[in-house]
Order: sequence, then C-alpha cells, then structure tokens
Amino acid sequence: MKVLKLEGIRKSYNDLVVLDNINLDIDEGEFVSIMGPSGSGKTTLLNIMGLLDKPDKGKIIIKNKDVTNIYDDNILSYIRGKEIGFVFQHSYLIPVLTALENVLLPSIFIGSPNKDRAKKLLDLVGLKGYYNHYPNQLSGGQQQRVAIARALMNNPSIILADEPTASLDVKTAKTIVNLFKELNDKGHTIVMVTHDPNIAKYSKRIVVLYGGKILSDNASLEEALKLIEQ
Ligand code: ADP
Repeated sequence: MKVLKLEGIRKSYNDLVVLDNINLDIDEGEFVSIMGPSGSGKTTLLNIMGLLDKPDKGKIIIKNKDVTNIYDDNILSYIRGKEIGFVFQHSYLIPVLTALENVLLPSIFIGSPNKDRAKKLLDLVGLKGYYNHYPNQLSGGQQQRVAIARALMNNPSIILADEPTASLDVKTAKTIVNLFKELNDKGHTIVMVTHDPNIAKYSKRIVVLYGGKILSDNASLEEALKLIEQ
C-alpha cells in the first residue's frame, strides 16, 4: 500500500523555486533517507509531506486520500496528529511535563489518551523506569527517545524525521538511528532527512534532492554521495 504520494509538487518563495515537479511514492514499511546539499529543499519537502507547509502546485495523497486542498486548520491538525509522527533535530519536549506526559500529549490532542500505551512506548525506546523524569533530567539521546515515543503515540502511518541525529554525538546518533531501524523492522514507515552518510546507510532507500529536483529516487549510498558532490 502507498502510504504517501507526491505528484508534481512545486514550491517557491518569492522568485526562488525551492521544489520543482517533485514526484515521490512512499510504500508501507519503507525506510527512506532524503539526502542533498544544504538548501536543496529537503526540509521544505518533509514539511510538505507532513502537511506543515502547502505546495504552490501538485498533489499530496495520504493512504489514497487527496489531502492537498484541505485548508481548515483544525482538520489539518487532526490528520497530522493521526497519520504523521514528527521527529526533529531538537526533541522539543515540554519542559514542565514528565517523559510520560510528553508521550501522552498527541493522544490527548486527538481525544484518545492511553497511559498504558505511552508507558509501553517508553519501554520500547529503552526508557523503562524514566516515566516520571523531566526533560532536563534526561540526556540528549534520551530526550530524542522520548520524542520518538511521542511520534509513535497515535500509531501514525508514517514517521517523518528531520535530521533527528544532527545534535547528538556520533555514538548516541548511532543508537538513535538503530532505534529507527528496529522500528522499521517492526513495520513502521520512516522518511528521514539527513546529510550524514553514516546515518543514511541504515535506511533501505536513498532519495537525492539537488536544487529542488529529485536526481535519484533510489540511489545507493555511493551514488547518492557522487550526485551530491557534483
Ligand atoms: P535544506 O533542508 O535542503 O537545507 P530547505 O528546504 O531548508 O533546504 O531550504 C531550501 C531553500 O528554500 C533555501 O534556499 C532556503 O533559504 C529557502 N527557504 C526555506 N524556507 C523559506 C521561507 N520560509 N522563506 C523563504 N525562503 C525559504
């Protein structure tokens, strides 16, 4: 099943064309890295996939449903909350809430809080025994694990991660990308933006973006690095 499909996406800011005729299919169970030089449009692409930004042209289809022309913020937030789990470079945890409360938040937002599931997710990401810790009592890697558990809370169709390891040291970054790999092995669909070949190598497919165009939508790591360096 196609989880997400982009058709002819174009996005510009003033005169600058940032994404130009992007066509991309993401199947259920894929683990995709989006690579490309700085400024190539990776974050813009991920934001459009995650309904955080609107394209000027083209279609966004999530699980066979065209969601391009939904403009009502409440409906958009609801679809986002149910279908998409976001992980960013920084964990963006709420400092006055415990790890458990942070993980619970998305489920409260869509009206179906489930404390047992939140605990199970914290166990899954290796944080059993940290339920009542506040973010400032956790390391950077542990905070990112909480953010990943939070992204999984509503059992989304797809996880979108924007440079999820960029603010972590090399060793911690490796444990976090390993966690993504384990989640993918369990069936979760993941699309991750990264500039780091040591992180991208864990994914199963590499999409190369360059100057707002897709140069390859299934490159090997070697091909991707060559395309980016050109
Ligand atoms: P990447 O993630 O590959 O570094 P981005 O998607 O962040 O690339 O940005 C692509 C281009 O779009 C850059 O030139 C950036 O300056 C520009 N851009 C991104 N967001 C905005 C915005 N909100 N307003 C104007 N220009 C933007």
